[in-house]
Amino acid sequence: MQDLSGAQRLDNRWNDAVADAMDEPGRLLYRSNLLGSDKRITNYGGGNTSGKIDMADPLTGETVTVLWVKGSGGDVGTMALDGFSTLYLDKLNRLRALYKGEAQEDEMVGYLPHCTFNLNPRAASIDTPLHAYLPFRHVDHMHPDAVIAIAATENSRALTEAVYGGEIGWLPWRRPGFQLGLDLAAFAAANPTAKGVVLEGHGLFTWGDSSKECYETTLRVINRAIAWFDGETAGKAAFGGAAVASLDPAARRAVAARLMPEIRGLIGADEKKVGHFDDSDAVLEFVNSRDLPALAALGTSCPDHFLRTKIRPLVLGFDPAADNLDAVIDGLPGAVDAYRHDYAGYYERCRRPDSPAMRDPNAIVYLVPGVGMLTFARDKATARIAGEFYVNAINVMRGASSVSRYCGLPEQEAFDIEYWLLEEAKLQRMPKPKALAGRVALVTGAAGGIGRSTAERLLRDGACVVLADIDAEALEATKAALARGFGADAVRAVTLDVTDEAAVREGFAAACVEFGGLDILVSNAGIASSAPIEATELSLWTRNMDILATGYFLVAREGFRLFRRQGLGGSVVFVASKNGLAASPNAAAYCTAKAAEIHLARCLALEGAPIGVRVNVVNPDAVLRGSKIWTGEWREQRAASSNLSVDQLEEHYRNRSLLKRSVYPEDVAEAIGFLASDSAAKSTGNILNVDAGNAQSFTR
Ligand code: NAD
Repeated sequence: MQDLSGAQRLDNRWNDAVADAMDEPGRLLYRSNLLGSDKRITNYGGGNTSGKIDMADPLTGETVTVLWVKGSGGDVGTMALDGFSTLYLDKLNRLRALYKGEAQEDEMVGYLPHCTFNLNPRAASIDTPLHAYLPFRHVDHMHPDAVIAIAATENSRALTEAVYGGEIGWLPWRRPGFQLGLDLAAFAAANPTAKGVVLEGHGLFTWGDSSKECYETTLRVINRAIAWFDGETAGKAAFGGAAVASLDPAARRAVAARLMPEIRGLIGADEKKVGHFDDSDAVLEFVNSRDLPALAALGTSCPDHFLRTKIRPLVLGFDPAADNLDAVIDGLPGAVDAYRHDYAGYYERCRRPDSPAMRDPNAIVYLVPGVGMLTFARDKATARIAGEFYVNAINVMRGASSVSRYCGLPEQEAFDIEYWLLEEAKLQRMPKPKALAGRVALVTGAAGGIGRSTAERLLRDGACVVLADIDAEALEATKAALARGFGADAVRAVTLDVTDEAAVREGFAAACVEFGGLDILVSNAGIASSAPIEATELSLWTRNMDILATGYFLVAREGFRLFRRQGLGGSVVFVASKNGLAASPNAAAYCTAKAAEIHLARCLALEGAPIGVRVNVVNPDAVLRGSKIWTGEWREQRAASSNLSVDQLEEHYRNRSLLKRSVYPEDVAEAIGFLASDSAAKSTGNILNVDAGNAQSFTR
């Protein structure tokens, strides 16, 4: 995030003791990671770094100069050495003779693999020529908000001159490629004392003879822009000042929780999307401002920004003072449709004869005055990163509009980047989405054995999961473990008691704010109890009924309300028990509550079908490993009722089953995963036993 205030100057983090112990590629990586770890210097995945390094040729042993440059994809902040492509510099130089001019420049990308040094499998990026032909050992190409703010003004050339004198030059906008590489080289030849170039509407190039010098120049040049903006903007209200005031944080979340499933429903019919909510100060300052409508309509400038955010956001007409949320929701279908219509118009106006087919025409970024920004994408990380990019774009607009007139990229230029055949080829190379990509699941009892396995199973298939449980400590531990395994983006946790109506409502609202809505509900929280009927206290009976019957009702009811609003169907899976079908002595309260659960599921299957909500049941039996139920009294009571010691139980259950096999949490999770997924799209009202075979619980 970029804040152009003095406190936000970039610190020099270069450590000689660390860097001097490294070899040249190591120092290049060190510099890259330092630069990329600060979003004010470059946005996620944006920019690239390079070094021209002398190395021994693997065939001849001769010393050759090798261009190390960040390869295609990847992020300078988090990359490792294998993220660099390596190319013979003399071969790259010979490509100049093959260049026939701008109309054929995309063909040059096909020659890059022929220049590969040492069989490096990392594909060279489209930006390779921007580094190859500059006659300096080290080059940084960054996307700092403060410099793009200069680059995206109508008089960016004059401002570059005003801020940097001749030290940093200026080149007019041009799409990255071979020609831009030659333009940069020509600039350097004509301006031998320049330390870099501002590229209009795009970003910054800086260079040096060593990694350290290059790093320090990059920082110094960005800091100069930050300091200059400080001076220019002191005392001025950004974006024309505030038009509305922010709601308080809880009210902002409440509005987001209502809006997000509605939007998700409208844009998710073809491909389900995951949402992200951001109400940071930088976002609120923009969405509350007088200039919001005019600036948002101009679109983003840096190509990286609009590839992630689409050229412009959809601004919703929410008025926090008038509290017109219902009217905004009523108007959403029209607003979403109008955006799609505009996007189709842009596609039609700008398309080339060989352009790829129109992509998803829905907005990615939704701006809500007084509330914040909602972003939607095919997975959580992409939605979050789209939001971060729009914050970069906001920072650029704040800077540019405070000193001049902000300019987005011309429409045709934006289109040519968005639908660039090389960009399309990159999209086509992306792995196919997983079966549950874009889906959001909520699992109750997720800190327990079966719940945790279920969450893992759903995460593995690409879903985002909200873990819900009454046991806050176990829940945090589960969340931390799953975040380590599947990435923090895809996992959230809410502590709730399924018998508490308000807490259940808040849990679903949290799912909406964190991920945008819900597709899969696994109602699994549970307990077990054992007692002969005469010894069954009312409190024990009520506890079973509360958690296993009422709790399942409350969770399912809230799920249904959400599914209906969202309009994308849904899948509910109840984790009941073999004991819900087969009577068992000394466990009347538990068995009866589980039977209620199963019948509730059948009733809901009827009510859900017209809105595409499927409701199914999985019945586990004797899942001892990992289950907290089986660590307590229940284990002792069950052992006692069969005249066994607790250690004999697992074998007892195995032998009792028809298949003579133990049942594990992951076996139950597999059945839940199936019923939750599209593989079971034609199944509702079903019961799937996972009990290694038990004639008593055969369904009929
Ligand atoms: P577990 O005890 O390991 O997990 C159950 C989880 O539910 C726990 O983390 C617990 O904290 C949570 N929970 C309990 N009360 C809650 C409440 N009021 N609100 C929110 N969370 C609450 O047990 P498990 O074996 O994983 O059981 C999961 C489900 O499977 C239960 O419904 C259980 O009845 C059912 N089941 C289990 C078995 C088995 O042999 N393990 C057999 C049949 C059915």
